[in-house]
Amino acid sequence: METGISVERAIELIQTHTKPVGTEQIPAARAHGRVLAADVRSPMDQPPWPRSPLDGYALRSEDTKTVPVKLRVVDTIYAGGWSEKIVGAGECVRLMTGAPIPKGCDCVIRQEDTDLGTDEVLIQKPLQHYENYCFAGEDFKLGDTLLPKGTRLSGNAYGVLAAAGLLREDELLTVYKPVRCAVLCTGDELVPNTVRPLPKGKIYSSNEAVLSARLLELGIEIATVQGEFSDDPQKLVDAIRKATEDADVILTTGGVSVGAKDILHETLPLLNAERIFWRVKLKPGTPLMFSLFEGTPILSLSGNPFAASATFELFARPLLGKLAGCADLEARIVEAPLATPFEKYGKGRRFVRAVLENGRVTLPKGHSSGQLASSIGTNCLAEIPPSDAPIETGTMVRVWIL
Ligand code: AMP
Ligand code: MG
Repeated sequence: METGISVERAIELIQTHTKPVGTEQIPAARAHGRVLAADVRSPMDQPPWPRSPLDGYALRSEDTKTVPVKLRVVDTIYAGGWSEKIVGAGECVRLMTGAPIPKGCDCVIRQEDTDLGTDEVLIQKPLQHYENYCFAGEDFKLGDTLLPKGTRLSGNAYGVLAAAGLLREDELLTVYKPVRCAVLCTGDELVPNTVRPLPKGKIYSSNEAVLSARLLELGIEIATVQGEFSDDPQKLVDAIRKATEDADVILTTGGVSVGAKDILHETLPLLNAERIFWRVKLKPGTPLMFSLFEGTPILSLSGNPFAASATFELFARPLLGKLAGCADLEARIVEAPLATPFEKYGKGRRFVRAVLENGRVTLPKGHSSGQLASSIGTNCLAEIPPSDAPIETGTMVRVWIL
């Protein structure tokens, strides 16, 4: 087991010990939000033929070398129509936006640049070869990779599938199976919201609520074994065993520090789970632990509500991304200057909740890892670098956009 490792090393270890969940083949109509496990190639050109981008006349540009010139209108084509005419010298075809450009023509003139003639049309302006001409396959060509492996199927992806004629029950897409995650919270002090009045010494568990909501937002399914558990290692052993029947991954909160009731240290050996690492050099959530139980990854987060939430964003997302086969589950990282100073400096890296707005980072009051309410309205995590003096306004920090 590695210990006292960097954030980057922890993510690397998580990802090297995690395999994507299996794949399945389903029709696109039932694949919304799923991630492609194989490239989708186009069975056709789009558009299938050269088409007009505007209402006007299709003609031969060489006929406009000397203007003004009158051309004979030999046909009219609307969108959805077709003409077998081969347009010759001195001829043109009246056509509308989206109509196929007939053979012989290499450009289209806007109707505003003509006298709108019906039998004969007056052209005042010379046209270039392929002016106002949409080529067949301009959007995509037969055999092109339309959607690469790893694409999450959403609005535009559906549009592309439909444009290529692939939104059919008999056209199956190879997608990753949905990832199912169990959330297990430890702590003798925790009670669910069904308990009222709140007994002395107890608090309502909030971690499960935060993590479950975030999982759903990221397109992850919630496994059936859920809930708050005591600080009894045997109960957690049973819950983890049960969870692995249904879940691809398990998140636990609490019990990973060095206190007398930090039961993960007892639970994992009882399960014969392989501990990959414990303790990461960051605040909050230092005692992060990652293990494998019969191949199922278990990420154990510190119980403090903000620590659990921040380490979920930093570590669970790369884990879920690897399982789901999709890099877009990871937070995007940018750099931006602090718009407020930060007094709580220290030797280690610290992640704080923050608001990124207009390219600047504002920090709310209330950084303690036991506080949750100050997270409301924040939209990112800002990384406060190690320092031996307070961090000044204007300092550039890395920002994980949530
Ligand atoms: P632990 O990581 O178990 O040492 O817990 C650290 C702190 O977080 C303690 O104050 C716990 O009461 C609190 N805590 C642990 N789990 C939860 C939870 N599910 N919901 C809210 N607070 C929690
Ligand atoms: Mg605890």
